[in-house]
Amino acid sequence: MTDQLIRATAANNGIRAVGVITTNLTQEARERHNLSYVATAALGRSMAGSLLLASSMKQPQARVTLRIRGNGPMKGLYADAGLNGTVRGYVHDPQVELPLNLEGKLDVGGAIGPIGSLNIIRDIGYGEPHSSTTELVSGEIGEDLTYYLATSEQTPSALMLGVFVEEKHVEAAGGLLIQIMPKAATDEALVSLLESRITGLQSFSSLLRSGKSLPMIFEELLGDLGLDIFPDVLPVKFHCPCTRDRVTAALPLLGESDLADMIAREETAEANCHFCNETYRVPPLELREILSQMRSGEMDPD
Ligand code: ZN
Repeated sequence: MTDQLIRATAANNGIRAVGVITTNLTQEARERHNLSYVATAALGRSMAGSLLLASSMKQPQARVTLRIRGNGPMKGLYADAGLNGTVRGYVHDPQVELPLNLEGKLDVGGAIGPIGSLNIIRDIGYGEPHSSTTELVSGEIGEDLTYYLATSEQTPSALMLGVFVEEKHVEAAGGLLIQIMPKAATDEALVSLLESRITGLQSFSSLLRSGKSLPMIFEELLGDLGLDIFPDVLPVKFHCPCTRDRVTAALPLLGESDLADMIAREETAEANCHFCNETYRVPPLELREILSQMRSGEMDPD
């Protein structure tokens, strides 16, 4: 199935549901950053989570940035996603690998936490972005985002995120977000029915691997509650807006003497975008131009 995001409502708009499939884009992130298994799961969950968070925004250019810092060996990660379906991200140490946890799953919580913080920035494209930070619950990311939604955004939510990697390949990845809107939050029977169904659901990656599509998963959860699946299917993809010019603009930060040394040794400089790991190469001839611009004061390294 192609990577995509779909939305639905149920219970007369009292329930909002969003599902996203991110299998291919998680595989792309794994290849770009040369991610270990556990790093693939951590970044895959975070990218799916940030796409789900971005889906509730209204402005076309709106974006969500997700930052996790933790005391585990991976140290943390970054993901950002737009309402337009683009997402990118990286982890601080992509090579960390850990044994499976007691449930036989990739130990994302052990790689990231358990102690640390989750920072979410919602940027609508103008004005001051809204930033909020919560403590990590477990470092498993799904639980941390659920806690964030309940405390910082006061929206009772169930969030499932899953990434399944086998034989160096991402077989299934994505997530599901079910939110109870204020008008339905007082309906205790509805809330407890939903809770028991979500608890009874398999892990999200198992659902996908068993061949279920997003509409089938929605149907299973909300089919008898006035489910209304929106016809729009939003394609989602890994995308970084970096350009050669933007990335090489950081080269003057190396300083005049280092640049002069590289030119003397006829070396090609490499400038790397840490969001997507794209490497841009700058040959000595071009380095000479940069250096002469720096020396004539045309370029300010700050
Ligand atoms: Zn980039």
